[in-house]
Amino acid sequence: MAPIRKLLDILGIAPPSRQPATHDRHWHETLHLEDGRQVDYAIRLSSTRRTPRLKFDTRQGLVLVAPPHFKRPQLIALVEHHRDWVARRLPDFQRIQQEVAILPEVILLKACAESWLVEYRSTQHPTLRTHSNEPQRRLRLSGPVEDHEACRRALRRWLMRQAQRILPPWLDRLAEETALHPSRIAIRHQRKRWGSCSTTGGINLNGNLLFLEPDLVRYVMLHELCHLNHPNHSPHFWAALHRLDPRTEDWHRQLRAATMPVPLWAQY
Ligand SMILES: [Zn+2]
Repeated sequence: MAPIRKLLDILGIAPPSRQPATHDRHWHETLHLEDGRQVDYAIRLSSTRRTPRLKFDTRQGLVLVAPPHFKRPQLIALVEHHRDWVARRLPDFQRIQQEVAILPEVILLKACAESWLVEYRSTQHPTLRTHSNEPQRRLRLSGPVEDHEACRRALRRWLMRQAQRILPPWLDRLAEETALHPSRIAIRHQRKRWGSCSTTGGINLNGNLLFLEPDLVRYVMLHELCHLNHPNHSPHFWAALHRLDPRTEDWHRQLRAATMPVPLWAQY
C-alpha cells in the first residue's frame, strides 16, 4: 500500500482512504430494454441502506440505491435482472413526470373555497419572486419562470404560507368547541400523512389539506385533537371521535381515497 500512497502523493491525487466516503459515490448507466428503448439511470451508494432498492424518483428518474459494499458490475446486473419491471412501470412514470412538469394556471383550495389565478412572467431578475394579491386571488411568479422546478418550489412555499394562514385558526376554533387544546400547531409539507399528534400534545397538519373538502379537513383536525386523550387507534379513541363527529366512518373512508385531489406539483 505504501508505495502507491507515495506515488499518489507525488502526482497530487488524494490517496484512497481506508474507509472510503461512500455516501457520495454514484454512477450513471443506461439500461437497454428488449423493445429497443433506452433508460438512463443512476446508481447511488448509501451507508443507510441495508439492501439494494430500485425506484422511480420524480426528480432523479430511475435510481438504484445500494449499500456501500456492493460492486458496480453486481449492481448493473441487478438492474438488468429487473428489466421487465422497468419496462412495465416506465409509461406510468413518464406520464407522472409529464404531469408534474405542467405548472398550474389555477389553484383551487377546496378547503376554504378559494380559486387563485396564477400568472408566470419571465423577467431578467435572477431569482424567482412571488407576488400574492389576496383580495383578487391572483398569484404572480416573476423572474426565471422557465425553471419549472424552481416555480414548483415557489408554489409549494406559497401553499405552505396559505396553509399557515388558514389551518391554525381553524384548529383553534375546533379546540375551543371540543375543549381539547394542543400544546402547539405546526404546518408541514408531508407526502404520506394528513396530520399527526406528538406525545407532547403538538399537532402537525399537512399543508396539502387545503386541497380537500372542508368536511375532510375538519375530520382530520378532530382526529388529531382526539389523539390528545387517546394516543392510539383503540376502540376508545374511535368511540370518542364518533361522539365528536357521528360521520367519522364516512370521512375516514373518503380520506383513504383522497390522494388524487392533491395536484402533482404539490406532491413532489
Ligand atoms: Zn390517528
